[in-house]
Amino acid sequence: PDPTLRPERLAEDGDKALRPKGLNEFIGQEAARANLSVFIQSARQRGEAMDHALFHGPPGLGKTTLAQIMARELGVNFRMTSGPVLAKAGDLAAILTNLEARDVLFIDEIHRLNPVVEEILYPALEDFELDLVIGEGPAARTVRIELQPFTLVGATTRLGLLTTPLRDRFGIPTRLEFYTDGELHQIVTRNAKLLGVPADDAGAREIAKRARGTPRIAGRLLRRVLDFAVVEGDGRITQAIADHALTRLGVDHLGLDGADRRYLRLIAENYIGGPVGIETLSAALSESRDALEEVIEPYLLQKGLIQRTPRGRMLAQKAWTHLGMAPPQPAAQ
Ligand code: ADP
Repeated sequence: PDPTLRPERLAEDGDKALRPKGLNEFIGQEAARANLSVFIQSARQRGEAMDHALFHGPPGLGKTTLAQIMARELGVNFRMTSGPVLAKAGDLAAILTNLEARDVLFIDEIHRLNPVVEEILYPALEDFELDLVIGEGPAARTVRIELQPFTLVGATTRLGLLTTPLRDRFGIPTRLEFYTDGELHQIVTRNAKLLGVPADDAGAREIAKRARGTPRIAGRLLRRVLDFAVVEGDGRITQAIADHALTRLGVDHLGLDGADRRYLRLIAENYIGGPVGIETLSAALSESRDALEEVIEPYLLQKGLIQRTPRGRMLAQKAWTHLGMAPPQPAAQ
């Protein structure tokens, strides 16, 4: 197996069959899809490498899938690595020098590139040239290596952590959004069909509604609901089985899981709704700040459950209602 894949990805390999293979099979992200389709077609007609693209947005929204689709539609090879595994300049050089003309190189978690590696990436992106230092001390010299023109697709959950020079080198920055319930409904229906799972419309809709706007989660929930349907039902996914299974899994009606509710309850109970700083939350929840900012908060923000203010995070009215709690009364004047 490719060591650059994260364990979470390996566990998902069972659903290779579920990955949409072409842009026309990819559901949602209308704006991004329409634009990419033009850029792909133009690159093909001109016979040139497509411009470098940067996909940013929360995990599981389809960044890797879109990059694979791009390579397929461009008719080129797809190579994949990630920021943290490229420890030395030589690691990146080895990959770049092996690319064929117009190939797509996908670098996941590109905000975690080692600065030394990032430095040699700049001329590679701009001029398809690599400046490598060979040898050490007084004998050291620089050699310039010509590369085949290629397309870099970078993916990041944290656009703000990218250095400006790196960001500026992507001609096609693309933000991926959370999916609507309707789009996820189509995705769950498609996945059920591909897996040969009998799911009725209301069952698929229930899973979609509770999938946190994220296709990866929709795929995972579909499998878990199927487990309950097989063991406790007749193997068919209905709304009743989906509701029962998701409730047992701790996924509530808004799609929030235990970690989300712990976050909201902490602010409600210990900080009377906030504002409270991210570091404080991170310490109190024993969750890394990154996990809060990349995974938990984007969805809570999108659902209007929390607000980010200069003084910290605050609960919105909707969160109090969701928790079944009363917000604090303003102090009498
Ligand atoms: P990311 O790279 O953004 O973390 P992935 O591309 O790995 O996300 O997608 C996560 C999972 O969700 C994959 O199993 C993929 O097949 C599925 N998926 C993502 N986007 C879609 C989509 N638009 N339609 C159907 N399945 C999707």
